[in-house]
Amino acid sequence: MQQVNDQMDSNAGATATHCPYCAFQCGMRISAAGKEIAVTGDAEFPVNKGALCIKGWTAAATLTHPERLTTPLARNESGVLVPVSWDAALDRVAQGFKDAQGAYGKDAAGIFGGGSLTNEKSYLLGKFARVALQTSNIDYNGRFCMSSAAAASIGSLGIDRGLPFPLADIAGAEVVLMTGSNSAETMPPLMQYFEEQRANGGMLIVADPRLTATASRADLHLRLTPGTDSALANGILHILMRDGRLDQDYIDARTEGFDHIKGTIATYWPERVERITGVPQRELERAARLLGEAGAAMVLTGRGTEQQAQGVNNVRSFINLALALGLIGRPNSGYGCLTGQGNGQGGREHGQKADQLPGYRRIDDPAARAHVAAVWGVDEARIPGPGKSAYEMLDSLGLEGGVMALLVMGSNVVVSAPNARHVVDRLRSLDFLAVSDFFRSETAELADVVLPAAQWAEEEGTMTNLEGRVIRRRRVTNPPADVRDDVSVICELAERLGEGRHFRYSGAEEIFHELGRASAGGPADYAGITYAKIDANNGVFWPCPDADHAGTPRMFVDGFPTASGRARFHAVRHGSPAEEPDADYPLYLTTGRNLAQYQSGTQTRRVEELTSMTPLPLAEIHPATASRYQLEEGSGVTLVTRRGAANFNVKVTRGIREDTVFVPFHWGGVQAANRLTNPALDPTSRMPEFKVCAVRIEAALRSNDKGE
Ligand code: SF4
Repeated sequence: MQQVNDQMDSNAGATATHCPYCAFQCGMRISAAGKEIAVTGDAEFPVNKGALCIKGWTAAATLTHPERLTTPLARNESGVLVPVSWDAALDRVAQGFKDAQGAYGKDAAGIFGGGSLTNEKSYLLGKFARVALQTSNIDYNGRFCMSSAAAASIGSLGIDRGLPFPLADIAGAEVVLMTGSNSAETMPPLMQYFEEQRANGGMLIVADPRLTATASRADLHLRLTPGTDSALANGILHILMRDGRLDQDYIDARTEGFDHIKGTIATYWPERVERITGVPQRELERAARLLGEAGAAMVLTGRGTEQQAQGVNNVRSFINLALALGLIGRPNSGYGCLTGQGNGQGGREHGQKADQLPGYRRIDDPAARAHVAAVWGVDEARIPGPGKSAYEMLDSLGLEGGVMALLVMGSNVVVSAPNARHVVDRLRSLDFLAVSDFFRSETAELADVVLPAAQWAEEEGTMTNLEGRVIRRRRVTNPPADVRDDVSVICELAERLGEGRHFRYSGAEEIFHELGRASAGGPADYAGITYAKIDANNGVFWPCPDADHAGTPRMFVDGFPTASGRARFHAVRHGSPAEEPDADYPLYLTTGRNLAQYQSGTQTRRVEELTSMTPLPLAEIHPATASRYQLEEGSGVTLVTRRGAANFNVKVTRGIREDTVFVPFHWGGVQAANRLTNPALDPTSRMPEFKVCAVRIEAALRSNDKGE
């Protein structure tokens, strides 16, 4: 029987915590009685105001699921994963690292983290890589999610906080332009802010190749060709410039570089932009007019715009638009990125990125290195430099100069990484692979050692939601007897590697205090945040540099954290995607999410209510395209790209462009969309191009393709 933790809220009879899934981090109240765990939305948490989506309502099912890992596993001489003791499992992981580093050097050890890990775990994992393993090779799946928006925001605004304003600002915006996000399915409770906005007379413009659930609620849907986002942004800015609707006072007072982009923007006249994007000129003109006439307006980007080989430039072009209209730093206005993963924001701030130290510091900054080394109590020279980005690390596995022993914590890269079959080959070539997870994920199936991890409602820690609000994750029940928290796993491994003295903590709160000191003075400054302060204020927005600081709900009010204090325009020329349709692969492929599934599906594909809603991945195909290939609703179909093939069932819909096929990416094996996707990387963010590649439809299912 699971035991109820003593932090129960006696007034409500339930513990206040947050959903394990997306970055909206809905407030929940959870009560546990025996094996019965009840979840309700927390009406007192100001972000979701009691609302949950179906994923949240059913989240407790993963805690008691019969397929849950309840003991460590290790591969025996026959190649079978069998139960072992924790000591045996941890000894083997430590030995795997020692052997690889002894044979090939420090960088032969690698860590692959996750954007759903708590801030404390993200921080500790980064410290473990640099201090205990002394490897430069640590990165995480947020590289596949947030890195393009992050790089663009840092370059243009001086800092990256997904939404630099509270969500409540949306309701007061007269016009919102949302690009590449299907929030109505990915985080449905967010839509209440848009409903309020529209009830206030506001307008919503959605740019997306699909008529998504979000686009169908918009006042204007710009159905652009996949991969043409920056041309669309430049085209709207062109019209605003032509019509004299820019905020020249703001441009003069608060920005730099506008004169350098004028020439580029002048070349994006409406006829040309219609040819590139497929968006009719009248719709471009209408979008520009709505934005130009609004007193308060917002531009929001999502993964559709960001997960491209030119994702950073795409986001820069939309930030240009927001700056030229004078939106950023004003109430109910601005630019924001809708972060996806549960701790997609905090996970990118505290050192599990290859190029970063805690507090969003750069690992190649001497002052940052000295500060963090002092907090860690190590010689600064001992901290390695930048390592390989996520896909580049996966691409290096088992190869000379690459990672030979890898620990994956909180990620299912076999399903979530692009060019997934190649990633499987690389994982198989490792000398040693360890995976920490709740279930035997597709990645865990390849491991030498599998460590059963405690889940969201069984651990303490903090998360940072898409607004930059730092919130508490609270323990509601104890994990099964032989399951451990990742924090204890990291600390035990550090002991076995001879560095235990740097990894002794009384609990998550002590780690958070150290994280605060390590972040002090950095861009993402948590130094003034405590658990008590979070509890008293329904979360605290960073930066919060000292105990007397109330946090920063709205950023950029007085200036930008750049050298000049001004935001920067960047000239962006639209470039073609890395791969475009041709005679062999005549259609665009784009990927995304379903309402009832989350990321690689490791958790949600095991929840009956969710799988009954979407039992199979459906390829969305336009009726005209379906007719050309003699496909009907429900037909089995194989999609083929230069990377591989995957099987789907057909959904015939006018919601997709004739030249495009959409598939969700939550499934593995022969149904894995990422067997098809292109690992072409953005040159700055190293973000793979998940959102556009060239595909061919083969009408017959490939029955002999076992997903190897
Ligand atoms: Fe809220 Fe996201 Fe969880 Fe749905 S998945 S309940 S939107 S946090």
